[in-house]
Amino acid sequence: MTAEQILNEFEKIKSLKPLLFLDYDGTLVPINHDPDSSWADNSLKRLLSYLRMRYDLFIVTGRSLEDIRRFIGPDLNVVALHGAVISESGGDVRFAENIERYSEICNKVYSRKDEFLAKYPGIRMFNKNGGVVFSLWELEDSQIDRLGIEIESISAETSMNLYTGKKIMELRIPGINKGDTIRSLRNGRPALIAGDDVTDEDAFIANQDALSVKIGDEETHARFRVKDYLEFRSLLRCL
Ligand SMILES: [Mg+2]
Repeated sequence: MTAEQILNEFEKIKSLKPLLFLDYDGTLVPINHDPDSSWADNSLKRLLSYLRMRYDLFIVTGRSLEDIRRFIGPDLNVVALHGAVISESGGDVRFAENIERYSEICNKVYSRKDEFLAKYPGIRMFNKNGGVVFSLWELEDSQIDRLGIEIESISAETSMNLYTGKKIMELRIPGINKGDTIRSLRNGRPALIAGDDVTDEDAFIANQDALSVKIGDEETHARFRVKDYLEFRSLLRCL
């Protein structure tokens, strides 16, 4: 039913050359316990290359540009690190002004990896050079609580934002979010925006005129919702 409504709404803007802004993890592929192996399967690759022939398509992700290119290939437009890095195919890569400063901070935090591993066995850390991700799948709740306090104090010291998501904590560059980035890329044009996580809510809130789709059953500011990435892929095939 909802899928049908979304397609009807899309039909209304289709002739206006809508842009597509699609999150990756949890939206196009399942959430993976090992974020290092969230490969795009061939069916997804085919779907994306079909869509990019017809629409201005952006993958919008918290991942680094290198990560996302490794998973889906080099040809797509990508908004990486929640908006701090923008790569449009055929154009230069654009970086947030202050990214070098935050990259240095990230290196410093990441250099404490062994210390974190000793304190929180099973934790995984990823340095995105503009963000540090702590993967929490192997941690007990009590460990996660302790870690949260510790990362909060790092956040205060470094002025990086602490974000808590699905089994992850992340230190992020302040003042950068998917919502403003998508808004400026759209420049008033109609768009379909889809995502599954808290960071995607920024995109929905800042783009209330867009056709927004939440993947999953948590509370959302999106106008529409689908059950999971599989239902969303089926929907994309109908565009
Ligand atoms: Mg996601």
